[in-house]
Amino acid sequence: MTTTHHTLRDLLDNNKRWAAETEAREPGFFSRLLKQQTPQYLWIGCADSRVPANELVDLLPGELFVHRNVANVVVHSDLNALSVMQFAVDHLKVRHIIVVGHSNCGGVRAALYDSRVGLVENWIRHVQDVRRMHQDWLDGVPELQRVDALCELNVVEQARNACHTTVVQDAWSRGQAVVVHGWVYGLHNGLLEDLALTAGSADDVEPAYRRALANVKQRYSSAG
Ligand SMILES: [Zn+2]
Repeated sequence: MTTTHHTLRDLLDNNKRWAAETEAREPGFFSRLLKQQTPQYLWIGCADSRVPANELVDLLPGELFVHRNVANVVVHSDLNALSVMQFAVDHLKVRHIIVVGHSNCGGVRAALYDSRVGLVENWIRHVQDVRRMHQDWLDGVPELQRVDALCELNVVEQARNACHTTVVQDAWSRGQAVVVHGWVYGLHNGLLEDLALTAGSADDVEPAYRRALANVKQRYSSAG
């Protein structure tokens, strides 16, 4: 793949052009954004530069609230992710929280192969927990598909974690409509797939989790 090298000056110039083009195409775009931010969706995705949230779903600034970290992990003690979730649910009143993983994720690969990658290993430990939960099944997946299989299992587990956060549990108990989803993005084809973990109430979580897990396992078992 060829990579274009941009200087920082280029980035600032690009920005000027983008702002001018946006305003020309839609006069008042920025003044409207200034007045309100009402996204319907919270995207929790991987920090990988090849997975730019807004672009993949063709949404404009103001339409998607985004949190990204290495390997799209949702941990109950991560104040950063929890704060984003709380703001999105309590204040912005997003209707959907979408945990989005992607194929061939470097963080997931490192977790699968116990790679020595420094400080980030401590973070990836959460993905290794997922690996350990499903180790027996993963061992039966053909080697070439194992990273992608763990990417999908990780989405299912992290989406379930999102369901179990106080933020989402509290929203559900006060009757607020918010639905948690798990998606995976194919780096090779640019397509998003719904892993069918769809939970809109506390009672939905375990059936949705089991269904999504069974789907992932069936997909990779029949492929092998
Ligand atoms: Zn990734």
